[in-house]
Amino acid sequence: MTSSTPPPLDTPLTCEVLKPLLDQLSDGLTLCDHDDGVLYANHVALRLLGSNVIGHRLESQLIDDQPGVKIAIHTGMHLDMRELPFGLGMRAYLFRDQGSRISADQALARLRGLVEAWPDAVLFCDANGLEISDANRAARQLLEDDHHRLTRENLSVIFCDKDADRLQKFIRQGLLSRRGAVRREMLLRNDVPVEATLIRLDEHQGQLTLMAMLRDRSHYLGKLRAVEHKLAKAQSMISRDSLTGLCNRHGFDKALEEFIIAGASGREFALMIGDIDHFKQINDSHGHLVGDEALHKIGQCIRAQLRDADLVARYGGEEFCILVVCGAAMLSEIAERIRHAVGDTPLALDNGTLLPVTLSLGACMFEPGIDGETLFEHADDALYAAKESGRNRVVMFQSP
Ligand code: GH3
Ligand code: MG
Ligand code: MG
Repeated sequence: MTSSTPPPLDTPLTCEVLKPLLDQLSDGLTLCDHDDGVLYANHVALRLLGSNVIGHRLESQLIDDQPGVKIAIHTGMHLDMRELPFGLGMRAYLFRDQGSRISADQALARLRGLVEAWPDAVLFCDANGLEISDANRAARQLLEDDHHRLTRENLSVIFCDKDADRLQKFIRQGLLSRRGAVRREMLLRNDVPVEATLIRLDEHQGQLTLMAMLRDRSHYLGKLRAVEHKLAKAQSMISRDSLTGLCNRHGFDKALEEFIIAGASGREFALMIGDIDHFKQINDSHGHLVGDEALHKIGQCIRAQLRDADLVARYGGEEFCILVVCGAAMLSEIAERIRHAVGDTPLALDNGTLLPVTLSLGACMFEPGIDGETLFEHADDALYAAKESGRNRVVMFQSP
């Protein structure tokens, strides 16, 4: 062929060659034939116009808004549209997302305002040198410093010395963490406890930025301490017997569990159950109030015979459970000491008479392998034997 007519334009191939280049554009670009049929749309154009725009006439994909502004029917986006001078037998159109460009500025301003007004302290710093580049109002207040001084400081110096070392480790974790965020309880240089969260922000202009958010925990910790205090008080109340001030049944059950655990690790201890003899007669003869007073006094008397590691509980009625840390050789001696102390301390009545009271006790040594329930049964069996054999005595549980 000798004709000088240029070869027919191979548009798909041209698009193919241009594609890698055009896909780099930050604006949308479409290449159309003379009828405005879309032959090619770069990545941005596909996002702005819709992914199935190719093959359709551009006109059918857009409706007019204001002059120069179109609305993409598939995405609803407001677009700046401009025709570009183009060769190769094609028409090229450039699209810009009008709405998002405006709102991006607004969003940035809004974000800045939001960070500034954020109730938690927010600091930005460069991840390598840790030099603080920005600090919001809460950060300035929390650190009692002004923006100018704060923004020239190193992030590590805002923490107390001990936590400055921890910070280095924390930051390494923060930077390495796949989720890009780590959190720790830390102490600031002015002794304010904070919950510190480090967030790695994406690399910006070749620089890795670290955002530190500090939440003041002093108020929270103060409240927590008050709640803990109340809770401890409530817990002690539910474990305490109001008449004698000793542990109640609930407190004893908990203590027994702990003693059993310690016993399994080799700590020797025994359980004694003491029951006041003929207590009903005291009530019947002298009234319930005298009975109550007797319970209180006898409880104190038993407690006074024991050491801090031992535990006395009023298990119910006129029955006392005693967990005593001792070996088998001492058990009988301790039980007798208690029995004598109670028997030797008569109750002084208002009319001057002394009311004798006695106590019967059943005792059993803990042996590894037995549970609390069995230990209790054994001590109770021994108590029953003490009552049966005449009261005011101690009986040791004997394995059958
Ligand atoms: P025993 O020697 O067999 O143990 O005889 P007892 O009279 O001590 O035993 P019994 O179980 O027959 O009576 C226990 C009495 O303890 C009956 C009950 O009214 C009295 N009691 C239980 N709880 C209280 C209390 O909180 N206050 C007073 N005052 N008495 C109580
Ligand atoms: Mg009794
Ligand atoms: Mg009883």
